[in-house]
Amino acid sequence: MKIAVIGTGYVGLVTGTCLAETGNNVICVDIVEEKVNKMKAGQIPIYEPGLDVLFHRNIAQGRLSFTTNLAEGIKDAQIIFMALPTPPGGDGAADLSYILGAAKDISKLITEYKVIVNKSTVPVGTADKVAAVFKEHTNVEVDVVSNPEFLREGVAVEDFMKPDRVVIGTRSEKAQKLMGELYAPYVRQGNPIYYMDERSSELTKYAANSFLATKITFMNEVANLCEIVGADVDMVRKGIGSDDRIGKRFLFPGIGYGGSCFPKDVQALEKAAVEHKYDFKILKAVMDVNEKQKTILTDKVLQYFKGDVKGKKFALWGLAFKPETDDIREAPALYIINDLLAAGAEVTVFDPEAMANVKALLGDKINYANDQYEALEGADALLIATEWSVFRNPDFDKMEEVLKNKVVFDGRNLFDLQKMIDLGYYYNSIGRKIVS
Ligand code: NAD
Repeated sequence: MKIAVIGTGYVGLVTGTCLAETGNNVICVDIVEEKVNKMKAGQIPIYEPGLDVLFHRNIAQGRLSFTTNLAEGIKDAQIIFMALPTPPGGDGAADLSYILGAAKDISKLITEYKVIVNKSTVPVGTADKVAAVFKEHTNVEVDVVSNPEFLREGVAVEDFMKPDRVVIGTRSEKAQKLMGELYAPYVRQGNPIYYMDERSSELTKYAANSFLATKITFMNEVANLCEIVGADVDMVRKGIGSDDRIGKRFLFPGIGYGGSCFPKDVQALEKAAVEHKYDFKILKAVMDVNEKQKTILTDKVLQYFKGDVKGKKFALWGLAFKPETDDIREAPALYIINDLLAAGAEVTVFDPEAMANVKALLGDKINYANDQYEALEGADALLIATEWSVFRNPDFDKMEEVLKNKVVFDGRNLFDLQKMIDLGYYYNSIGRKIVS
């Protein structure tokens, strides 16, 4: 099939590349010229494991190309995907201006039937709004489909190529058939394609992300309680996770959820509920608890240093909001840096992939180390904000050589408590006893 993908961010580029991989001809459109030039030159603008092989192969075989020219991008496309930002507007509700703006631009260019697919995460009723834009600007027939994306950054290619499920929201039989054919190669193992109406599809995505954010937040509260009552959250986690109804995944406590999706989607669903005069109480609690959780590591640091960290040097391992990505949007590490700097401390950071993004954001406010050990040089303490595998089994001899104090605040519970006792560390993690 001939496909256009509008927006080449984490979702759009993965979608475009993975659709080309099954033999479709895909043109990706973005308004950022620098990004498009980079891709035309064979460079991937984001870090996403496994994307490079598919990206280069499909460009080489002529199935994947890039343009800033919308007209050229959509001219021959049977299906047009919109993978555009839906950031929070001033009131926290999703800002639909990218989506509705692109719909208007597309509507003025098309001359034959197209399926318009919304891949962005949007509130209930957006498909209707997009359809109304087309109705206003063209007589050409279109079907607007809601097809939310469930990929996880860090394993996005795997998630796209073998999704747990595909959700297709449309009442048009014609669009359903085309979308079904397009996705068939991705569900060969028997995973389901759920066809539903547009509104149910739109709500499915918000409900999924909000549920996951709630699960994490629940565990963060359990962890906080563990610290107070002297329980170990790792034991509690295992104890409850073995129940199939609860499941083992997404039960790891930490320093608050971040990223480009959970914070904005929980907020947007709560706002959408308010708009429909429904008080979605649990989401308000989730946001409230998450705000507090983001300061928990800095609180521990301040408590240890008796409220005075002025002039103290801290090493911070991990900047990305989770491992295997360079994405720092709403990353807990950024809140920690902010709080430490505000308290007068000096911060040296290391992250395997996200250094350039943080440098672009914070410039010389902090120091950037070339590797995880360099970050520790002369540090009064180490803080861990992202569970990159490379931090899980570090060279403790090397650490001891460079750290000023053997003090670790671990927001991701990477180390065994007994090991830290044996090594003589002060070690403060989440939902477990402090050891020293
Ligand atoms: P992103 O910010 O990484 O990418 C958006 C891209 O759209 C950018 O490259 C931007 O330059 C481009 N763009 C903006 N306006 C444009 C226009 N008028 N024409 C062409 N291109 C334009 O965003 P993302 O993370 O890919 O997310 C996109 C949507 O998918 C959001 O609604 C998000 O909530 C949703 N989503 C994201 C993820 C994720 O893990 N990132 C997962 C599932 C769903």
